[in-house]
Amino acid sequence: MQEALTLAEFASKVILLHRAGALTGQACYRERVTAHQRIDIRFNTIVDEILGESTVTGVRTRNASTGAGSDLEVAAVFAYVGLQPNTAFLKERMELDAAGRIPTDASMRTGLAGVCAAGNIRCSSPHRAASAAGDGATAAVALDRYLADGVWRT
Ligand SMILES: Cc1cc2nc3c(=O)[nH]c(=O)nc-3n(C[C@H](O)[C@H](O)[C@H](O)COP(=O)(O)OP(=O)(O)OC[C@H]3O[C@@H](n4cnc5c(N)ncnc54)[C@H](O)[C@@H]3O)c2cc1C
Repeated sequence: MQEALTLAEFASKVILLHRAGALTGQACYRERVTAHQRIDIRFNTIVDEILGESTVTGVRTRNASTGAGSDLEVAAVFAYVGLQPNTAFLKERMELDAAGRIPTDASMRTGLAGVCAAGNIRCSSPHRAASAAGDGATAAVALDRYLADGVWRT
């Protein structure tokens, strides 16, 4: 929703395609996006393909409920995806929260000795590039200490 609002400052029309049947973000953004004259929200819509050869000409979409497909003519695509942590392979090895993120302490140490988690993958991450980089630096210090003295203090 934040991205749609920003794009709507520059584009004549923004179509927000959402897989679910309702917006679930913060109420202030829901209200602004819903009321915005240049933002058209389409629910239950999955993007299967971005169309075009040298430039984007459209997107091939599918209705999440009925499976019906349709092509939508657009001049550009901004993909806001990629927030789901890829941690299924860790399930047997360490604790994960309900969303699949890894709990850490302030030094980015997990409950498993010698393993730190940094960035979006950890619980309570602010989901920002700068904080992910900071997490990485913090984790490096913790791991350096662990390699030096072999003690995993949590
Ligand atoms: C559309 C979008 C827009 C954003 N805009 C902003 C912004 O304007 N400003 C801002 O600060 N932040 C923004 N963010 C958030 C920012 O991108 C993230 O906070 C940051 O990239 C997190 O870094 P990360 O290293 O934790 O994770 P990622 O950048 O997601 O990196 C994780 C890497 O691990 C790889 N990987 C996954 N599974 C495995 C595996 N099993 N083995 C090996 N590698 C694996 C992935 O391929 C990926 O390369 C945006 C995010 C998105 C999705």
